[in-house]
Amino acid sequence: MVPEDNSPKSPPPRRFIAGAVCPRCSAMDTIVVDRETDLRECVACGFSDPRPKDNRVPAAEPVTRVSRPAARRVETAAEVVRVLEPPPKRED
Ligand SMILES: [Zn+2]
Repeated sequence: MVPEDNSPKSPPPRRFIAGAVCPRCSAMDTIVVDRETDLRECVACGFSDPRPKDNRVPAAEPVTRVSRPAARRVETAAEVVRVLEPPPKRED
């Protein structure tokens, strides 16, 4: 009987990634991810790699950049195209 919950030396919450292949030893199902440090590790060869969170949506979305000058746009729209009426030629 081992009290794992209250032990300060409890193993890190690592989770196996199903179907993951180690980039170093090419072994399958040997990659574990530390949920605290987000470090992926191969239990077979000891390969470790800091893994960025894929599920996290980047907060820096370019959607907030909609501060375009609307006044200029209105002026452009008010510009009527009147090039289709050429002045009548006078052939005297
Ligand atoms: Zn490996």
